[in-house]
Amino acid sequence: MALRMVFLGPPGAGKGTIAQRLVESRGLAQISTGDLLREEAAKGTPLGKKVREIMDKGAFVDDATVGALVEGKLKALGGNGFILDGFPRTVEQAEMLEKILAKISLKLDAVVDVEASDETIISRLGSRVQCGKCGMVYNLKTLQPQEDGKCDDCGGKLVRRDDDRPEVVKMRLETYRKKTAPLIGYYEKKKLLRVVDANSTIERNMANLEKALAGL
Ligand code: AMP
Repeated sequence: MALRMVFLGPPGAGKGTIAQRLVESRGLAQISTGDLLREEAAKGTPLGKKVREIMDKGAFVDDATVGALVEGKLKALGGNGFILDGFPRTVEQAEMLEKILAKISLKLDAVVDVEASDETIISRLGSRVQCGKCGMVYNLKTLQPQEDGKCDDCGGKLVRRDDDRPEVVKMRLETYRKKTAPLIGYYEKKKLLRVVDANSTIERNMANLEKALAGL
């Protein structure tokens, strides 16, 4: 079955990492708005420069920009299943997503809330690095690359994200609680919500995820 899902959860909870694994095991497409925006920022266009400034502060990029990126990607997918990682981040964006999906006659099958404690999050973000080329995420303590500083998958250079600095992380967590956490209740009411405890190792977190997705 072509699963269509949204992954919610605070920054550093491991959404991207467990989404990446599920994408491989179930043949889905991963649409990470953070990665799409980082690609845009790297282009250095006027839009890219504006996006970088906003991301470096830990604030949200405007809905029109993010919505257009997501709509383009979803339309290009055809009948393929997908995981939306990092979108929607507000109730307004969730309403926007419903409209985009209605236009292409699709519906969500599940919304996964990836939960981790503040302690886990701060420790993970402090040792996170990401491939500048393909976006693969590593952790210098728990998920090391085979070769120092180099992506196992594509050989790209591994870099720290500018917005993983402690003062920006604090801001991103506050923004998450205020603007994104209300989506948990929003999707619970729609009977789409599945909660996953992601405080443990990747293997255990994956087992929790598979359990939460039972029947899908
Ligand atoms: P992420 O990689 O998901 O942690 O996203 C990194 C940054 O990209 C966020 O802190 C925001 O600045 C921006 N961003 C990602 N997704 C969205 C979104 N759905 N709406 C607004 N800004 C976003």
